[in-house]
Amino acid sequence: MKIGVLDIQGSVEEHFDVLSALGSVEPVLVKRAEDFEGLEGLIIPGGESTTVSKIIDEFGLRDSIVALAKSGGKVFGTCAGAILLARETGDSRVEGLGLIDISVDRNAYGHQTESFETEVEMRLGDRTVKVDAVFIRAPKITQIGDGCDVLATHDGDPVLALKGNILVSTFHPEMTSDKSLYEWFFS
Ligand code: GLN
Repeated sequence: MKIGVLDIQGSVEEHFDVLSALGSVEPVLVKRAEDFEGLEGLIIPGGESTTVSKIIDEFGLRDSIVALAKSGGKVFGTCAGAILLARETGDSRVEGLGLIDISVDRNAYGHQTESFETEVEMRLGDRTVKVDAVFIRAPKITQIGDGCDVLATHDGDPVLALKGNILVSTFHPEMTSDKSLYEWFFS
């Protein structure tokens, strides 16, 4: 299975390495519309959603991402990637792709606690998996549409959500060693 990693900003290499380690996935770096050829999925890494949103449009990638998702491709957005996939980003500088019915509040944990690590329990199919989750100037999911499944929470807030073939996490699974989320989603 060929899975792209959007190569604009953030922990691109880390996601690429996790995908490589799975064995079942052929990761590719994606920067231009042509790179979407043959993809069955895409990861949108964290970074600065204002910048990534701008570059997605400058590089003309918006339609390719939406087309991939609409054709059933698995799309996983982490942190800023989750913001970009949202229906409502709460920031006029970030045009959401609207691929998952969530609203987000950027940098909702504030600057005092910009980064923290905590254990979360993920519901992956019929398994539950506890992982250390790294939050870096993370958004909060403030509203979640009917068809979305919350797969993990932190202090009552959804931090991992799924709707069909679209997955979002407000934390960074590429920064810890557990690969079960990738294994489960890209299987
Ligand atoms: N604070 C960033 C934003 O709002 C997200 C941070 C991240 O992706 N680690 O875009």
